[in-house]
Amino acid sequence: MAWRYALTIEPVASDDARTDFGDTFSVIDPVAPALSVGELSTQRGDGVFESIGVIDGHAQEVSAHLDRLARSAQLCDLPVPHEGQWRQAIAAAAAACDPGESVIKLILSRGVEHGPAPTAWVTVASATDFADARTRGIRVVTLDRGFDSAAAARAPWLLLGAKTLSYAVNMAAIREAKRRGADDALFVSSDGVVLEAPTASVILRIDGVFVTPAPTGLILHGTTQLSAFQWLASRGFDTEYRDVAAAELQRADAAWLVSSVRLAAPITAIDAMPLTNDVELTAALNAYLLSPRD
Ligand code: PLP
Repeated sequence: MAWRYALTIEPVASDDARTDFGDTFSVIDPVAPALSVGELSTQRGDGVFESIGVIDGHAQEVSAHLDRLARSAQLCDLPVPHEGQWRQAIAAAAAACDPGESVIKLILSRGVEHGPAPTAWVTVASATDFADARTRGIRVVTLDRGFDSAAAARAPWLLLGAKTLSYAVNMAAIREAKRRGADDALFVSSDGVVLEAPTASVILRIDGVFVTPAPTGLILHGTTQLSAFQWLASRGFDTEYRDVAAAELQRADAAWLVSSVRLAAPITAIDAMPLTNDVELTAALNAYLLSPRD
């Protein structure tokens, strides 16, 4: 990943009446050291973030990402982000993107220990090349997420519906999947409910219906999954949010991991069970996901 651009933001109150936030941004060298050693985002992973796919300078689904950033901030008791300020920062970052695929990251951190304010910054980097995953597909293994499907309601401080910076567990799950000979993991709750992948949502085709686990606070509501469901519905396919039991995975005849930068990667095996890639549908879905979306 090559870092191309970065700017820091002085977050303003969500009801700030300004329309131009240029003087709250500072463009910084994207490869030079920039953070204070007291940063709670780096010391504790205490902050929230978004990764936005960018195609030829067009930032995809900005509203959906900003909605989720606001929801994550609220769950973490961080100040509500000012939508207009973040939109302007995203526009500045998108203007700095090279042609092709890039990724804009938005980061809102608790700030510096004992410091006065949250800190925030935006980065632009070239996107990881997912071309192979989109065409050849990926093998996944199911991994126990270590909590049951009632955990979000019982223990909201686990912040399960927030996109926090604490991704060490997610990264460990991907490493474990690779140790088991797969490309990625699919989390299942300890009571056998399908959740999501460490960095993606899952969509399954079961009995002709496109199904994804209901985002009831246990998982993130994926912006790519939302977009894919709109596209599928517009083409006359049935879509459904519901609880999916792990035992039902065997009934899927096709499945995908979807996320903002990877787009749709067809799953070719879940544990030992092979799945066919619906090549035509996957290609059409990825063509849609690569087109400008708002
Ligand atoms: N679930 C998790 C845990 C993720 O980290 C991500 C994206 O990084 C997603 C789902 C998919 O979200 P999106 O489609 O908005 O990228």
